[in-house]
Amino acid sequence: MGHSELTGELIPRHLNVRVIAKDNLETFLGGLREFGEVFGPVEKERGAYIYAQLTDVKNVVQDAQRTVLPPKKYLYPQKEELFRFSTQEGYRKPESVDKGRKILFGVHPCDIHGLSILDKVFAGRYHEPRYFDRRDNLIIIGMNCLPDERCFCYSMGTDWVEKGFDLFLTELEDSYFVKIGTSCGEDLVHAQAELFRPVTDEDIQLYKERVNERNKMFVNRVELANLPQILELEYESEVWEELGRKCLSCGACSAVCPTCYCYEVYDVLDLNVETGSRIRRWDACLFKDFAKVAGGHNFREERSTRVKHRFYHKQVTFVEEFGRPSCVGCGRCVTQCPAGINLIDVFKEIRGEKVVHKSAR
Ligand code: SF4
Ligand code: SF4
Repeated sequence: MGHSELTGELIPRHLNVRVIAKDNLETFLGGLREFGEVFGPVEKERGAYIYAQLTDVKNVVQDAQRTVLPPKKYLYPQKEELFRFSTQEGYRKPESVDKGRKILFGVHPCDIHGLSILDKVFAGRYHEPRYFDRRDNLIIIGMNCLPDERCFCYSMGTDWVEKGFDLFLTELEDSYFVKIGTSCGEDLVHAQAELFRPVTDEDIQLYKERVNERNKMFVNRVELANLPQILELEYESEVWEELGRKCLSCGACSAVCPTCYCYEVYDVLDLNVETGSRIRRWDACLFKDFAKVAGGHNFREERSTRVKHRFYHKQVTFVEEFGRPSCVGCGRCVTQCPAGINLIDVFKEIRGEKVVHKSAR
């Protein structure tokens, strides 16, 4: 027996896998509203998916490819007020950070890894309570996906998850294999137990076949062995100048990245010139003034140095600090870069491998 996180009831602990028929999934998602606001991938325009609130669960796209923005937007919003200030009262925190429980459906393995990387960053030297207030109220229902030509999560070791989810679904034929990751996930299943059935030997066989088939579908391989060392050796490479000539400094690659977390802070004064707000919003190391300091000096004036910095931060300095790269191989930057800069090609070029250049779109 175990204790339910959501209802406090004692519930039996059995196997941590179940099966749900595809026909029951929408009913299940509808029933989740009892526990919080439900979000999932919907089609914004043809072939472009975003996470949005599922006011109508029929809108969910169960086999959606990567969303434009990753789930970080729910934990670390693009722009938010940190506090209010006034000449009379000093500083005042906002009434409340949004602490309502959110249930996020359809999160791919790479994005679950992306969240665990952000957890490490925001729990580190500068603990960020707002992030964790939201994180503690986020329920993750993961979904196994099929890779396309821009994914390289297999190389980054992020194509699969063992933890970081409450439930995790893998498509079988007309059903999903449901792995229960936490007692909270167990509660969600228990609350609509009639929609689930126990796993059979046939399900397990099918599940193994599906996982094996999926593993064979990863066409992009990035060789990570000694990459930090090779990058150190290639610090003055012509590759960075070439990328600097292509890059538009638009910052799209950072905005869509599940592990980019840089921000800027600025004050907005009200018209009465007595009160105002301190705002935090996403920033990007690709922006021209990102490394500009008081006095006017810019440490990364050249575009080539900014592009290079992004690669080195993700693949060298982040590894030194956190023991792994801050890239999960989701392919979003490859998809969104208007200049067609493709991370996979850059890695190959730096390694001295021959690259056939083609547009990312
Ligand atoms: S660097 Fe690109 S591929 Fe890697 S996690 Fe960020 S957006 Fe995804
Ligand atoms: S998305 Fe492409 S063009 Fe825009 S800043 Fe990133 S690398 Fe440069």
